[in-house]
Amino acid sequence: MRHRLGSLVVALAAFTVAVAHAAPASVKSHKPSKSIGAPNHGRLEGGVHLESGPHLRVVGAYAVGDARFGVRELVEAIDHAAREVRKRFPDAVLGVGHLSHKDGGEIERHHSHESGRDADLAFYLTDVAGRPVARDRFMTILPNGIAAADSHVRFDDGRNWALVSALVSDPKARVTHIFAVNYLRTRLLAYAARVGAPAALRAKVAEVMMQPHHALPHDDHFHVRVACPANSEQCIEWPISSTGKSKGPAALAKTKPPKQPKPPTKKLLRARSTGHPSVQPLAPATSAPPPAASIAPAPEPLPSGA
Ligand SMILES: [Zn+2]
Repeated sequence: MRHRLGSLVVALAAFTVAVAHAAPASVKSHKPSKSIGAPNHGRLEGGVHLESGPHLRVVGAYAVGDARFGVRELVEAIDHAAREVRKRFPDAVLGVGHLSHKDGGEIERHHSHESGRDADLAFYLTDVAGRPVARDRFMTILPNGIAAADSHVRFDDGRNWALVSALVSDPKARVTHIFAVNYLRTRLLAYAARVGAPAALRAKVAEVMMQPHHALPHDDHFHVRVACPANSEQCIEWPISSTGKSKGPAALAKTKPPKQPKPPTKKLLRARSTGHPSVQPLAPATSAPPPAASIAPAPEPLPSGA
């Protein structure tokens, strides 16, 4: 009897430990994952798949090809952030676009997303009554917070602030960039000040969130990038230029500061619809962490494939 009781206790303890260490339900793999090379010229080993769940869905337009793999740090950060938002907003479902292919490498319509460190996330949107809106593609948001294609659809400040807050506060992943158009960055920081978000958190978001230079402004989704994970010795922190040359910090210092926020121009919208990026990516190559607002992620997301 005592022996059986002892076995039961041992089994229970083992079960408790297993549960405590289990990955979130939407992150199934336990293999080590490695990012190799740069975000715009690299690959992924042992990529972890981001699974859907009540808190997370794949945006329809980006479902083909299952580009939902990344380094563990990125995938778990997204999963965790979506769950955090849902704790505060029980009806919130995060829309996910492309991460990387299973083994990384080239991915259509992106210049980055190659090494498992990049992800496109839809904005949380609501209707005029505050009910969540889930569309099958990303929606461009104007400076007034209203969707360009549907005046009934709004950028939800509360849910989007909760998302970026959770991402920059992630205990394991170091989120280095959340690319988004300047006027939405301004909008979110103003919201955070209004609701009394901690100053340190607002400063962190202000540091990480930026409109990319020399790339589309990201007015229809967030592009999240994490730093090279600790176990990825061959990971290159910054994008590489097409010539393989590093622009270096000196060249970057000459980069013009971002212009004042403005709504998307006709030229920009035309560039999107034709799939031709307006400019090429900037590309410093170094293992040092990138300074804020100096990195260009891919000219990327298009209405049909971001
Ligand atoms: Zn992206």
